[in-house]
Amino acid sequence: MNLQGKIAIVTGAASGIGLGIARRYVEAGAKVAIADLKAEAAEAAAAELTRTGPGEAIGIAMDVTSEDAVNKGVADVVAKWGTVDVLVSNAGIQIVNRIEDFAYSDWKKMLAIHLDGAFLTTKAVLPHMQKQKSGAVLYMGSVHSKEASPAKSAYITAKHGLLGLARSVAKENGMHGIRSNVICPGFVRTPLVDKQIPEQAKTLGISEEEVVKNVMLGQTVDGEFTTIEDVAEVACFFAAFPTNALTGQSLIVSHGWHVE
Ligand code: NAD
Repeated sequence: MNLQGKIAIVTGAASGIGLGIARRYVEAGAKVAIADLKAEAAEAAAAELTRTGPGEAIGIAMDVTSEDAVNKGVADVVAKWGTVDVLVSNAGIQIVNRIEDFAYSDWKKMLAIHLDGAFLTTKAVLPHMQKQKSGAVLYMGSVHSKEASPAKSAYITAKHGLLGLARSVAKENGMHGIRSNVICPGFVRTPLVDKQIPEQAKTLGISEEEVVKNVMLGQTVDGEFTTIEDVAEVACFFAAFPTNALTGQSLIVSHGWHVE
């Protein structure tokens, strides 16, 4: 899967899955902008990936919920490298609580990061992709794009929403050679998940071991976590796919956590 010379923006790539995707893209020869709220961590990650090559990376300070920050970040990438070939809208957080205890401010924050962030970054890159008549847009969904679990209403609503956005982008932009797809991972051991284990134990009234064994891995076929590398491989496949045949789709990578 060759991304030689391709220019990619990956949001939320200073950590976890986004960083793994940035690493895989640089390995495949891409130039990658690591866009994250954590500017210093993004710069440090970019420096490390550029050292390992063969592609290169830069760090960009970006709050995906700010239209100005998104537009500036995308403009900076285009000023440096000329265009954008691949967008991975990946930045995300998790807040767990039952609906009756879910603060409205938390609900709005979740939808802003996951959905507004996806919309704003997509809107900013599309004109560049349309101009060159090619591009790949990827959204980081989840098994929770396909089904629900208790105490995750905002996350589940947002992750389901990304399927709609990806399908809209696919239908509106096929004629411009732009593809749009969703990756739906099962549980992956990242800071986002590590933070959730004690929180879910408290909210669901069970032990942390039970959260891992039953809530996170109970539905898998083999009791295994999905890895960052598994998800990065799928992100590479979607970015490198050569034609419009693969658009408007979602792919679940979850050790069978969700099958359909
Ligand atoms: P993570 O916490 O390791 O990384 C998330 C990154 O997003 C962080 O670097 C953070 O600084 C950044 N970020 C947060 N808010 C931001 C904002 N407003 N603007 C820019 N950057 C921001 O988490 P992760 O597990 O790697 O999650 C990445 C994505 O994968 C999320 O969309 C998450 O929902 C999704 N996902 C994760 C899992 C899992 O099990 N870890 C499973 C399915 C889907």
